[in-house]
Amino acid sequence: MTDVSANDETTPRFSELGLHPLVLKAVEAQGYEIPTPIQAETIPTLLSGRDVIGLAQTGTGKTAAFALPALSDLAEAGRADDGPFALVLTPTRELAIQVAEAFTSYATELSDFSVLPIYGGQAYGPQLAGLRRGAQVVVGTPGRVIDHLKKGSLKLGSLKHLILDEADEMLKMGFAEDIEEIFSQVGPDRQVALFSATMPSSIHRITGKYLDDPKEVRIAAKSQTGANIRQRYFMVQHSHKLDALTRILEVEEYEGIIMFVRTKQATEELAEKLRARGFKTAAINGDIPQQARERTIDMLREAKIDILVATDVAARGLDVERITLVVNYDIPHDTESYVHRIGRTGRAGRSGEAILFVTPREQRMLGSIERATKQKVEPLTLPSVEELTNTRVDKFTKRIDDVLAQTELSELTDVIEQYSLSRDVPASNIAAALASLVLESNTLKAEPMPEPARRQGRDRDRDGGRDGGRPGRGGRARDENMMTYRLALGRNERLQPGAVVGAIANEGGITSKQIGHIDIRSNHTLVDLPKDLDPSVLRKLSHTEIQGRPIDIRPDSGRPGRPFKKRNFDKQPGDGRNFRGDRRGGKKFGGRNDRSRDHY
Ligand code: AMP
Repeated sequence: MTDVSANDETTPRFSELGLHPLVLKAVEAQGYEIPTPIQAETIPTLLSGRDVIGLAQTGTGKTAAFALPALSDLAEAGRADDGPFALVLTPTRELAIQVAEAFTSYATELSDFSVLPIYGGQAYGPQLAGLRRGAQVVVGTPGRVIDHLKKGSLKLGSLKHLILDEADEMLKMGFAEDIEEIFSQVGPDRQVALFSATMPSSIHRITGKYLDDPKEVRIAAKSQTGANIRQRYFMVQHSHKLDALTRILEVEEYEGIIMFVRTKQATEELAEKLRARGFKTAAINGDIPQQARERTIDMLREAKIDILVATDVAARGLDVERITLVVNYDIPHDTESYVHRIGRTGRAGRSGEAILFVTPREQRMLGSIERATKQKVEPLTLPSVEELTNTRVDKFTKRIDDVLAQTELSELTDVIEQYSLSRDVPASNIAAALASLVLESNTLKAEPMPEPARRQGRDRDRDGGRDGGRPGRGGRARDENMMTYRLALGRNERLQPGAVVGAIANEGGITSKQIGHIDIRSNHTLVDLPKDLDPSVLRKLSHTEIQGRPIDIRPDSGRPGRPFKKRNFDKQPGDGRNFRGDRRGGKKFGGRNDRSRDHY
C-alpha cells in the first residue's frame, strides 16, 4: 500500500506522468497546476496496466485520477469495435452526470469522442439511441447498466477499463449483486480501478475476488496544525461562495488575507471580482514568473494590497506575518495541503484564523480535516442583515471621526454654511448628500443573501444534485404528489444525500426515483416522498438507521424544534402499533438483502 501526501517537493508534473499528449493538452487547458496526490500515484500505475484500489473521497481529484489514464489508453488504442472501451459505475445519477462531464472536459482533444451517462429514472429511448451510436465511455448506475446488459443494448466484450467510483456508497445502496454480475460479464483482459472513501469488508471481498494484484493507494493524513489557529467552515453551494465571502469579510477583523482556489484561472477570476467589490487584491499562480510573484507578495507585506488569491503551488513557503486570515475558497484535495495552507497564518507566534468553504458534496473532506488536524472545525454563521448594517454604520462613523480629528476643515465648513443659508437646507441633509457621494449609494442597509438558485447544470452536479433542493414545510412538498418528511439526522451528523437515498430506497423497498428533494439541514433533514406511500413502507423505515443512528422519520410539521411526538402512520382503528415500532428490532442500513427482511 502507498500513502501519499501533498506539497512534497518530489510531486511530479502532469507532463511527467506518461499521459498521452492529447490528454495532457486538455488537462493543461483546465488550468490544473500539479497532479493531486491521488493522481500522482495512481495515474502512472494505471498507465502501466496494473489494477488500483484508491482510497479517496470527493474533492481529492479522483475523477481525473481514473479518467486520464483511461482516456490516454483510448487515444493510443483507438475506439473499441463492440461496445464501450471504458465503463464507470457510480452510485447516483448526479455522480454519473458529473463523471461524464469530467470525461468530456479531459477528452476535448480526442477526435470523435463520446461518453454516455445511463441511469435509472431516465427514459430508455435516448439511452438506447446513445448506445446504438456507440459511446467509448459509458458512465452508469449499476441497476441501469444491468438492465441494458439484459436487453442486449450494452455489450462489454471490448471493455478495457472497468472503474468503480464511490464503491462503498454503491454497496451501501445495495448494488453488490449487480456489481458482481457486471464483473462476471467482463472478460479477463481488462483493468479495474476501484475508488472508495472507506474500506469495509464488503469491498475487500470484491477486490479480493475480482482485482488482480491491485496497488492500494491512500492519502496520508498525518500532520497537525498549531493550536494558535482558529478554524471555521461554512457550508455553501459553489455559486454562492462570492456572496458569502464578501459578507464574511465585511464583519471579520483582518490585516492580510490569503485565499486559496484550485486553478490558475480561478486565481485571476476571483481577484478580479474582489477588486470590483473594492478589495485591494492580487493573484499569484504558477504561470506568473517568480520575480513578479515576489513583487506581489511584497505588496501584501507592505499593505499595498490586503488579499492575495493563490494556488497551492504559488503559495509554497510563503511567509508574511501580516496574514491573519486564510480563506480556503475551494477546499483542498487532501489534508496535507490544508495544513500547509492554514500554516500561512499564525506566523511568529501570533494567532490566526482559517475559514473553509465546503460544498455539500465535500462534507467528508471536512471530517478528514478534523481528524488530521486533531481539532474541531467550528461552523461559521453568516452575519445577519442587521449585523452587516450595523458594521457598515460603525465603519462609516469611524471614517467621519478620523477626518474630523485629523483634517483642517474650516475652509470647507464655510462653503457648507453658505450653501445651507443660501438654499435653506439643514446641515444634516447636506451631510447626507455628501455621504451618498462618498459611498456611491444612498443607503448603508445590507440586503439579505440571495436565495440559493435552483441548481442546474454544472453547479448542481458539482454539489450533488439532490442535496440543497428545498422541500416545502409543514408536510407540504414542492410537488403536489409528494409530502415532506423529517429525519432526525442532518449536517451535524455529516449526513450525505446518497445515504438518505440508499437507506430509504433499500429499507422502504422503493426506488430512488420515488424520492424527491432532500434538504439536509444542521440537525435534521427534509425529504419528499410520495403522498400515497403505503403505511407499511413507513413502518419499515421507522426501524432504519444510518451510521448506527435511528432516522426517526415522521411527517414534517414545519415547526423548527423537534419535540418527539409519537405518531401512528397507519391510522387504522384498533391497530395500536406505533410507527417507530420496536427499537430493539431496529435494522442497520445495509445491503440489498435487507429489503427482504421483514420484521412484522
Ligand atoms: P473530484 O475529487 O474528482 O471530485 O475533483 C474535485 C475537483 O478538483 C474538481 O472540480 C476537479 O476539476 C478539480 N481538480 C482535479 N484535479 C485537479 C488538479 N490536479 N488541480 C486542480 N484542480 C483539480
